[in-house]
Amino acid sequence: MTKNDILEIKQLLNAPRNIVIVPHKNPDGDAMGSSLALYHYLKGLGHQTKVIVPNDYPSFLKWLPGDRTVLIYEGSVDMANTAIADADIIFTLDFNALNRTGAMEPALKSASAVKILIDHHQQPENYAKYIYSDVSMSSTCEMIYHFLVMLDAVLSIDAKIASCLYVGIMTDTGSFRFSSTTSTTHRVVADLIDKGAKNTVIHNKVYDNNSHNRLKLLGCALNNLKVLKDYNTAYITLSQEELNAFKFKKGDTEGVVNYALSVKDVQFAVIFIEHKIESLVKISFRSNSAFDVNQFARKHFNGGGHINAAGGRSEMSLNDTIEKFISILPQYKNDLKS
Ligand code: 5GP
Ligand code: MN
Repeated sequence: MTKNDILEIKQLLNAPRNIVIVPHKNPDGDAMGSSLALYHYLKGLGHQTKVIVPNDYPSFLKWLPGDRTVLIYEGSVDMANTAIADADIIFTLDFNALNRTGAMEPALKSASAVKILIDHHQQPENYAKYIYSDVSMSSTCEMIYHFLVMLDAVLSIDAKIASCLYVGIMTDTGSFRFSSTTSTTHRVVADLIDKGAKNTVIHNKVYDNNSHNRLKLLGCALNNLKVLKDYNTAYITLSQEELNAFKFKKGDTEGVVNYALSVKDVQFAVIFIEHKIESLVKISFRSNSAFDVNQFARKHFNGGGHINAAGGRSEMSLNDTIEKFISILPQYKNDLKS
């Protein structure tokens, strides 16, 4: 984002506008935190602002300030399409390929609004007029903080905005431990605490919100964990039957893949989750080394993401997907040496 881009965006925001903010499908803490933080800022400037999410998000995020104002596309297609068509400006946050919005893609593609992309994923598409893309950033929430600094709006960050931004930085950095966490990230977080983000309360709301069933599902996942020593790789599977047995709810499997990565010497961790209704297996890839899971997900499983965290999908059965995965690993034996 150039100085001139910032000047133009400031001018755009000088008059009241209709603004829509869109995060990716299956929104996580960073997607919701960045969207609602920006929502509060723009609303404070007097703009008509709406956050529209492609589908629902986990209950551990349903306390975020502004949560009640969020429109879920899946349940309000007509209203959402009208808002998108009428928008002067559309911010797309925490993704960089329009197909990451699922069913919203056609409406976003045909919208005449000025699009502004803010995101930290690899290999952005070129659909927006203004692009703030930085793959070195811990989170889109950290980028929203820097964006507000560029707009000379850091003093507008109140406790609501600070809390939203804190959530996204906390969740996308695995509570400030992933390698994307820099000293700048910590300085940003320190300022958010000074501005009213209650760090302990937020950690409790997000992480100490488990149902008994969620923990039983975690037990099942850990029971299914397999370690492939030759490849320093571990994977977890969850079948539809297992999800049903523990009354799976959105968000219940979030973070489970990190247990596979926590096995000593494991560099590459994967979780395969069967979604029978959609006839697909959703896959999460993680690494804690130079092994590039973004490339792996793109090449073999129709996905993408970051070097150390990516997602993908397979339309084969759960068993066939795992067989395919295991058959690919020998190609990477050298990359996965300790
Ligand atoms: P998760 O495994 O938690 O779903 O996703 C890990 C990271 O990869 C996130 O940053 C997410 O946005 C990205 N990601 C997940 N699934 C996909 C996908 O299908 N395509 C792309 N390009 N990125 C994905
Ligand atoms: Mn993110």
